[in-house]
Amino acid sequence: MPKNKSITNQKTKTIKKHRTTNSAKKNSRVNQQIENKISNDKIKLYFYGAAKEVEGSCFLVEYKNEKILIDCGIHRDIRSQINAQPLPFQAEEIKAIVLTHAHIDHSGLIPFVYKNGFRGKIYATPPTIDFCVLLWEDAYNLMEDAAETQGLPLLYTREEMNEALKLFSPSPYYQEIQISQNISFIFYNAGHILGSAIVLLKIKKDNGRETKIIFSGDLGNPFNLLLPDTDIISEEADYCLVESTYGDRVHEDAEIRRELLEDAVEEIIANRGVLMIPVLAVERTQEILVELNELVVHHRVPLVPIFMDSPLAIKVTEVYQKYLDYIKIEAFKFVSNGRGLFNFPGLTFTLTTEESKAINAVPPPKVILAGSGSSEGGRILHHEKRYLPDPHSILLIVSYQAENSLGRRLLEGASEVEIHNETVKVNCRVQQITGYSAHADQKMLLQWIKELRFRLKKLFVVHGEETAANTLAQKVRDNFGIFTEVPNHGDWVELE
Ligand SMILES: [Zn+2]
Repeated sequence: MPKNKSITNQKTKTIKKHRTTNSAKKNSRVNQQIENKISNDKIKLYFYGAAKEVEGSCFLVEYKNEKILIDCGIHRDIRSQINAQPLPFQAEEIKAIVLTHAHIDHSGLIPFVYKNGFRGKIYATPPTIDFCVLLWEDAYNLMEDAAETQGLPLLYTREEMNEALKLFSPSPYYQEIQISQNISFIFYNAGHILGSAIVLLKIKKDNGRETKIIFSGDLGNPFNLLLPDTDIISEEADYCLVESTYGDRVHEDAEIRRELLEDAVEEIIANRGVLMIPVLAVERTQEILVELNELVVHHRVPLVPIFMDSPLAIKVTEVYQKYLDYIKIEAFKFVSNGRGLFNFPGLTFTLTTEESKAINAVPPPKVILAGSGSSEGGRILHHEKRYLPDPHSILLIVSYQAENSLGRRLLEGASEVEIHNETVKVNCRVQQITGYSAHADQKMLLQWIKELRFRLKKLFVVHGEETAANTLAQKVRDNFGIFTEVPNHGDWVELE
């Protein structure tokens, strides 16, 4: 985790204020007690991740020497040295972690925090806990591989990771859960991935007032096929931290994205090509599967071999099947094939390496879904190496492509790329459909923020690259007149 990079004016002001207070303390013991009491009744909020970037979500809230974390994520490029930086807080002082969802950029640093002495509870919804078991294991395997092949450090041991998993406390939506005498929270549905949550944190202060802070986590796309719509928080809140991944963009709507997917399938069938779809294991895979299910069972596309070539995504899909009550009823009506959401003619799950290799023997046309979502590893690389040079094939990008990832370079029109130390020509068509994003777009974010406009003292725009975050912040100021800030990494503020 990076060290504090910069200090805002607000922080400078706060530090100054403390210096004045310090000199006053020398003069009067009474004053000291009063000052201590005032300062003690303030809430401090630290931005330790996802500030002007989409990585490593981590926010620390401190009140009366009690410290809790909202999310504790890692940089998704597991090889990044950023992850090996010393923690900016004392892990053993953290009383609890409230986790919005399982994606590793929100949860992946928890085993490292455990290693450094954290022994508190981790509050999360039941699907989030199941996903963490799978996603942490996957991250550990990648880290172990990088340690063996590139000599990179292991951040924690498998034993430490397993011990951290024991700290989870299953916490359902809509129930107020008491962390301590002063601090409680409620999870709402964020509609981003199965079990994802918005956190409403409540802090009872000594002056009798209650301060409420909303942490949006990652907010979902309203066109999500599987999850109920993102909750609009009707309870009054004083502060809000909102994500801004797509703060400067608007997605295609559901009908257009379906037609684009349908056209892509039809095109590779006509051209006898391969449709490669790099997918994230959680949510995007399941949504695309349901979409393909609908296209196949309603005869909108001819029957074609479709391979789900990701062991992780296969296991994640099993978690979806375990928590069907978290899935909206419309999803079942949408496919109505009698075989379930993730089972339809032509679909094959390839769990083992041998099964995966056997896909090569199936002649085109065929559709292959595989990880990783931004082509930074995983089985998709084998298929890309084989079919990127094929002018009849299509690489269909359906998820966010992080800066400097292979997927981003392909999206930006690279004519050749390096895969497994080989130069690969790109002759296939590279197409993007943004409508399958698991994140709300600018329009949806503004709608969600709008409901909070009369009550908020301040909105902090986080979890977005700088342009996206600044664009959303400006839109919020233009439309709703809310005080809005885009914090830097390491900034902290005092809340009333
Ligand atoms: Zn997420």
